[in-house]
Amino acid sequence: MDTQATSEDQFVQRSVDLARENVDAGGKPFACLLVRHGKVVIEATNQVAQTGDVTAHAEIQALRLAAEQGLSDLGEFDIYITAHPCPMCLGALYYAAPRAVIYAATREEEAEHYQDGNQYMTLETFYDEFPKAPAARNLPMRQGSSADPAASFRHYAQINN
Ligand SMILES: [Zn+2]
Repeated sequence: MDTQATSEDQFVQRSVDLARENVDAGGKPFACLLVRHGKVVIEATNQVAQTGDVTAHAEIQALRLAAEQGLSDLGEFDIYITAHPCPMCLGALYYAAPRAVIYAATREEEAEHYQDGNQYMTLETFYDEFPKAPAARNLPMRQGSSADPAASFRHYAQINN
């Protein structure tokens, strides 16, 4: 095993250990590390239970901390997470565009012990909602009526081009 594999394994393990600590603190079992050039720059844990903010997943918390520290370009960062991300966090990770995302548990390994969801989705069904047509999703969703729904985009293009 080379040095890089060893440090990657350590960061994966740290994401698991930090998540375990968050459980002991009354939180949910997820953590996220932002690592640049082999050094941990940001550590965050899921804060949904502690704050009541449904978006306070570990990945989102880490990205917010990065922004607070002025880190807007994450292209040199590797992001380590306790489990394969939920769709919200996967979307956020696409926006963040890190060098790589490394997760510890698969969603199947997570689901053996942990459940998440509501009347619209579960851990098992959440990703299946996305390819559906809006009207076919469990979340009630429809396009509203507007005389000019693209007005803000046209305005943006006029000001910025
Ligand atoms: Zn998430």
